[in-house]
Amino acid sequence: MQKSHPALDTALEQLRIAAEKLNLDSGIYEILRYPKRVLTVSVTIRMDNGKIGVYTGCRVRHNDARGPFKGGIRYHPSVSLAEVTALAMWMTWKCAIVDIPYGGAKGGVCCNPKEMSIGELERLTRRYTSLILDLIGPYRDVPAPDVYTDAQTMAWIMDTYSQFKGYSVPECVTGKPISVGGLEGRTEATSLGVIICTREAAKLVGLKLKGAKVAIQGFGSVGWNAAKIAYDWGCKIIAVSDSSGGIHSPEGLNPYKVYEHKAKTGSVVNFNGCENITNEELLELNCDILVPASLENQITKANADKIKAKIISEGANGPTTPEADIVIYEKGILLVPDILANSGGVTVSYFEWVQNLTREHWTLEEVNQKLESKIVKAFNDVYKTSRDEEEPMRTAALMLGVGRVAEAIRTLGLWP
Ligand code: NAD
Repeated sequence: MQKSHPALDTALEQLRIAAEKLNLDSGIYEILRYPKRVLTVSVTIRMDNGKIGVYTGCRVRHNDARGPFKGGIRYHPSVSLAEVTALAMWMTWKCAIVDIPYGGAKGGVCCNPKEMSIGELERLTRRYTSLILDLIGPYRDVPAPDVYTDAQTMAWIMDTYSQFKGYSVPECVTGKPISVGGLEGRTEATSLGVIICTREAAKLVGLKLKGAKVAIQGFGSVGWNAAKIAYDWGCKIIAVSDSSGGIHSPEGLNPYKVYEHKAKTGSVVNFNGCENITNEELLELNCDILVPASLENQITKANADKIKAKIISEGANGPTTPEADIVIYEKGILLVPDILANSGGVTVSYFEWVQNLTREHWTLEEVNQKLESKIVKAFNDVYKTSRDEEEPMRTAALMLGVGRVAEAIRTLGLWP
C-alpha cells in the first residue's frame, strides 16, 4: 500500500495551519500529526472461479482523546494507507466540531467492488472483519460505511463480530439496515446535513434556496441523496455526475428520474434531455451551489479560479486542496468545509450507537430533529470562530476541532 497520498498532504497542511493559528503546544501538534495505531492486513478469500484472491486492507486509528474511535470503511482500487490516515485524521476533527464523544478512525480494502460478486464481497467483508476484530468493538472503535460500502456491508460486519462474541452486538457498527438495529434516516443523514449547512450558508450570502442552481459531483449515497433533498427543498439541480461522467441541463433535471436511469444503465450519462459533460466541466458550471460528493482532490489550483458557484458545500472528504482554498477565499466564495458539511453522517452514527446501547428505537422525526439542532449548532460555532478570527470557514472549523481535541489531550495528561 502507498505510503504517500495527496489527501494526507492536504490533511497535514490543514493541521499545520490550525496549529499555527492556535499557537498549539509543539508536543500536542506532534501527537496529532500521527495516527495512534495502524493495522495492515492481508485479506484472502476464495473467488467465485475457485482461485484465491489476496487484498490488502488496513484500519487506522488517529486519536481517541474525546471518546472511542469512529470511522467508515472504504472499498476502492486506490485505497492506500496514506489516504486512510488522512480520512482518519479528518474524522477526529469532525467528531470534535459536531461535539460528539468520539475519536477518529478509518479503514479500507484495496479492491474493485464493481468487478466482484455479492458472494465475493461478503467473504471479503467477513474475512477483513475477522482480521481487525481485536481493534473494533462498541467501546473501542466503531466502523461505518464509506465509498462503495453500504448497509449490507455493515450487517455482515455486525454478524461476523457477533458470531465471534457468541451474542448479538448491534452497537459494534453503525449504518446498519433498520431490521438489525439501524437508525431511521441514516441513509439520507449525511446529505441532509450537507443541505442544512447549505441552507445556513445561503442565508449568510443572501441567496434564496428556492430556485438556486445546484451542481453535484458524484451520484452515490451522498450525491444522490443531496440531489433528492435539495430538489425537494425547491432547488434547481442543473448537473450531476458519477465516475463515468456527468449530465447538464440549465433548465434543471429531476434527480428521481436520473436515479431510475442510473439503476437501469449503470450511469447517469446519456440521460434524456441533458447534455453529457465531464466531471471537470461540472465543477466549472454557472451555478449558485456546488456540492463535490465523490472523492478527494477534485478542486485544485488548476481549476479553482474557474469555479463560478457562490457556495461550495463539501459532501466528499477532502475534495479541495489547500492551494485551491486560498483561491476560493479570495474569490469570495463561501466554502462549507467537509469536516462540517458532511458531519451529519457521523452524527447520526452516534445516534444509532446510543440507540443500540440503550436498546431504543427512535422515530425519523426524533432523529431529524436531533440532527438539525446538532448541525445548526456546529455551523454557528464554526461561523462565529470564522467571524471572530477573520478566517475562512475551513480554518475556523479546523481551529475549533483541533482545539477541542488538544484540550482533551491536555486534560487527560500523559500516561505513564
Ligand atoms: P458512494 O460509493 O456511494 O458514491 C461515490 C460516488 O462517486 C459514485 O457516484 C461514483 O460513481 C462517484 N465517483 C467515483 N469516482 C469518481 C470520479 N473519479 N469522478 C467523479 N465521480 C466519481 O460513496 P459515498 O458514501 O457517497 O461517499 C462519497 C464521499 O462522501 C466520499 O468522499 C466519502 O468519504 C464522503 N462521505 C460519505 C459519508 C457517508 O455517510 N456515506 C459520510 C461522510 C463523508
